Order: sequence, then structure tokens, then C-alpha cells
Amino acid sequence: MLALAACSGGGAGGGATEGAQGDGGLIGVAMPTKSSERWIQDGNAVKEQLEAEGFKVDLQYAEDDIPTQVSQIENMITKGAEALIIASIDGTTLTQVLQDAADADIPIIAYDRLIRDSENVDYYASFDNYKVGVQQANSILSGLGLVDLEGAPVADAPKGPFNIELFAGSPDDNNATFFWNGAIDTLQPLIDDGTLVVKSGQTDFQQAATLRWDGEVAQSRMEDILTKSYSDGSKVNAVLSPYDGLSRGIISALTDAGYTVGAEWPFISGQDAELDSVKAINSGEQYATIFKDTRKLAVVAVDMATALLNGEEPEVNNTEDYDNGKKVVPSYLLESQIVVKDNVNEILVDSGYWTEEEIKG
Ligand code: BGC
Repeated sequence: MLALAACSGGGAGGGATEGAQGDGGLIGVAMPTKSSERWIQDGNAVKEQLEAEGFKVDLQYAEDDIPTQVSQIENMITKGAEALIIASIDGTTLTQVLQDAADADIPIIAYDRLIRDSENVDYYASFDNYKVGVQQANSILSGLGLVDLEGAPVADAPKGPFNIELFAGSPDDNNATFFWNGAIDTLQPLIDDGTLVVKSGQTDFQQAATLRWDGEVAQSRMEDILTKSYSDGSKVNAVLSPYDGLSRGIISALTDAGYTVGAEWPFISGQDAELDSVKAINSGEQYATIFKDTRKLAVVAVDMATALLNGEEPEVNNTEDYDNGKKVVPSYLLESQIVVKDNVNEILVDSGYWTEEEIKG
């Protein structure tokens, strides 16, 4: 499904490692969970591309269980993996197993999520995660008619006030604070001038955070907020949600509380362009998602691994922003795109990420 050819022109990697060949050795690929579609896409894309380069691949999913992920990585080391590509569950729990890998001279690439508190993270392949948060905020602000999708103010915009509620991702995932900071930096001026009102008063990251990105947790928090802060008949006009799985939980809470799609349905953001959420965008339940092309991310990670194993320097484009507590990890960051109903076909179908049949259901 995810051919390298599909990624041409992606601007990712390539240059420094063009023509580098795998040596038939084993690469360990550790992914967090299969419960979210994006990681299945990531795992498949990385495996397929590594195999195309001539490597063998040990691809493992840990179902969001930290000890499982640690033992999967230990196993990869035991099996003689030549490099590790890791999307961590909790960015702080791999220090010991990464030390074991480093002692065996195995290079480590953090995939999408930065691994924290370890000297032994060699490179980081991800997206511009702060910008993802800015895009999430801009997507709902554009739904409210305040800015366009690029965040430029709209002339004669409505004055509000609009009720907004805020959700954040898993506090143990380094990305979650990047998304949150990007979104809050964008929303805060409008909260300060009264255009946006957070009726629940829950404006701290810790209050908004959703452990393990669990949609059911988001659903029950949204139910709680609706009961405690909106039983006076007022309505939520927008919800900042950092991930499609949370957005679906939020949508269920709203539906259960009697909201119906139409005039009073809030603008809800998301991330990952998961199939069910693309359908929800088409049906008007979710306003937007952020598309991060997992095929391109796989190209970057595979290029990094190939370069390292060929004694070359992987290509990076950021050496400042991703300090993991022990070092600034050299990174290659890709760009993401806002998807709304109007551009679903252009961004997701024309690029071959989903077919027209798939998004119709
Ligand atoms: C990823 C997001 C994803 C989230 C939940 C984050 O680390 O960057 O794309 O939505 O995890 O899986």
C-alpha cells in the first residue's frame, strides 16, 4: 500500500543517503500500540521501506504497556538488531534498555515521539510538533470565523464570546506539550481579550491532559464538563482536541448530551486523519484534523538508519528544539497540513493516503 514512490517530492531525507544499501541485517522497530490506526500505518510503512532497502525487520507493538515495550526492545537487542527505531509509549522509561543498546553499539532513532532522559538517542524523526498545535488551534478558530486556515485574521470577524473547552494529550508523551504550547500560544490572546471563554476554568495542561491518549477518558471528562459547566443551557462552541481518537470520545459525549450536528454543534479539531475521523469530517461531526503523512516520516527514519549503518551523517533540519533532558537530539521535522471537509479529497485522496471508497465507508 505505502510505496516509496508515493513519497517522492516529500522533501524528506534522501539527499545524503541516496543509494545507500541495507546489508541484510536486522532492524528493530518498536511501535506503541495498534489501537490507533496511525501507528499501524507507520509500522507498515517503515517495515516496507526497510525491506526495500534490503534489511530484515522486527516490528513490534506494545499495546501501550510500558514493560512490554521495554522487553520487546531488549529482545531486539538480543536478536542482534543493528539499529533501533522507537516510537515510545512513555518518553521517560527507556533509559536502561537504551543504555544496553548503546553498550552493544546499536544506534537509536526516536520515531515521532522524543525519548527523554537518555544520552543514547542518536537522531529524532518527527513533525514540527509545535506547529501542529498552532494548526489545531487555527482550525477551530477558522471554524468560528475568526481567522483563515493559515491563522490570518478575518475582516469583520464575529466578536463572540465563544465557549471553548481544551483537551491535551498524554503527559508522558513529549509531543503532547509541544501540541499544547502551540495551541495555547495561539488561543491565549483570544482568551485574554474575552473572545474565547473556557467555562470549565480548566486551562492548565495537567487539567486538560489525557493519559495514554485514551478516547474514553476524554469522553468522560467532556461529559463531566458538560454537566458541571453547561447545564445552564449554554453551549460549547469549540473544542481543542489534539488527536482524532479523543475527538471521537468528545463527539460521543456531545451526542449523548443532546447536541446534534447543525447550528449548535461545536467546531472540533483532531490529528492523524484516521479513517473514522475523516468520515466524521465529511459528516460534519469533526471540523478538522491534522494530517501528518506517515509515509514521509517512514522515509526519514529509514534514511537515518541507512545512513548510520553506512557510516554517513543522516540529514537533519533542526538542532535546537528537541532537548530530551540530557542532550539536544538532532532532528528532521516534517510539515503537517490542516484537513477540513473542503480539502479532504485534495490532501488525502489525491496523495493516495486513503481511497475515495475508504473515506465514504
Ligand atoms: C503523535 C500523534 C498521535 C498521538 C496519539 C503522538 O505522539 O504525534 O500523531 O495522535 O501520539 O497516538
